[in-house]
Amino acid sequence: MADADEGFTDGPEFACGCCGQCCRRDPYYAVSLLDIRNISMALGMSPAGFFGKYCAVIDTPGGFRYPAILAPDGCPFLKGVLCAIHLVKPIGCWVFPESALLPVTLLKKSIIAIPTCAILALPDDDRPLKADPELLAARDLHFEHTKQYFEEHDAFDEPSWQAATDRLIEKLQDADELGRRSAELRAKAEAQVKKISGQ
Ligand code: SF4
Ligand code: SF4
Repeated sequence: MADADEGFTDGPEFACGCCGQCCRRDPYYAVSLLDIRNISMALGMSPAGFFGKYCAVIDTPGGFRYPAILAPDGCPFLKGVLCAIHLVKPIGCWVFPESALLPVTLLKKSIIAIPTCAILALPDDDRPLKADPELLAARDLHFEHTKQYFEEHDAFDEPSWQAATDRLIEKLQDADELGRRSAELRAKAEAQVKKISGQ
């Protein structure tokens, strides 16, 4: 049985098979406030120009409003099987599939709709995939600040978005905040391992 503490950092490592299917299966891909800044800069576009061309604010199945890259025919940044904006891809893309913190056995079931995904070749395991707690903590900060911004704003508005993005960057640079959140995520992963192993 896995040691609970190992469940977060020492679970099985995932090696992406680069089939590209996870970038084709969804109608949209979430972008955070900071993703919008990073991607628009990399593309040499204004943030408003990038947002207007590629994104929209969508109502998520979870019942909140969130910005996303629209992908009616797969993500527009998928070129062949590779991401054309890999270095600045959205935080949600960076943490997939480790972010689920699901034991591998359950993660495989959740991903069954992508038969080419390398996850399905992993042996069953009661631990989540090995993950970087600080990256997941950063993901949560992106998510919370972005969600809050679109709760307070009907649409993308560049001046207020700039200010909100600066506040997010400040939080991301707060080592204490990231440390606290990493510890919470570790506890969550430990609880998942205990639950699945019946401890
Ligand atoms: S941004 Fe890149 S990694 Fe994310 S869905 Fe699009 S192609 Fe895939
Ligand atoms: S579906 Fe799985 S193997 Fe294919 S690109 Fe996505 S994460 Fe990698």
